[in-house]
Formats: sequence, structure tokens, C-alpha cells
Amino acid sequence: MKLYQEGDKGQAICRHCEKIVATTFERKDVLFSDGVETARDILVSAYDNCGEVVGIPAPSTPAVAVRSLSR
Ligand SMILES: [Zn+2]
Repeated sequence: MKLYQEGDKGQAICRHCEKIVATTFERKDVLFSDGVETARDILVSAYDNCGEVVGIPAPSTPAVAVRSLSR
């Protein structure tokens, strides 16, 4: 499994923009799908133009989904 690092580039589908976008891996605070808990400073893939978190590498993923990835 590839381990991503801050500043790595990738591609993912932004649900907000509904298109494939270029992403940058960066550390962010993200809100879990329960809307209450946040994960601090985890490595995620985000689309710079709208700030949407479009992916979370497995090593950074807790056992819960993040709101922006959930249905
Ligand atoms: Zn977007």
C-alpha cells in the first residue's frame, strides 16, 4: 500500500463539484459522519478550489466515515 505524505498530488471525484479534480494531500481537521466528533490533524486528500475533502488514505481512516464521504 502506498503511503501518502503531505503535499502529494492525486486525483479524485469531488462530490461538491461533481467532477474529477486534482487534489493535494494535507492535514486537516475533519468532521465524522455523526456530526459531533472531529478528527484532528489527519492526512486527507482535498480539492484546493473548494476545500472539499475528497479522500482519506487508509492509514488515516478511523473506523468511521467522514461526513463528506458519506451518503
Ligand atoms: Zn469541489
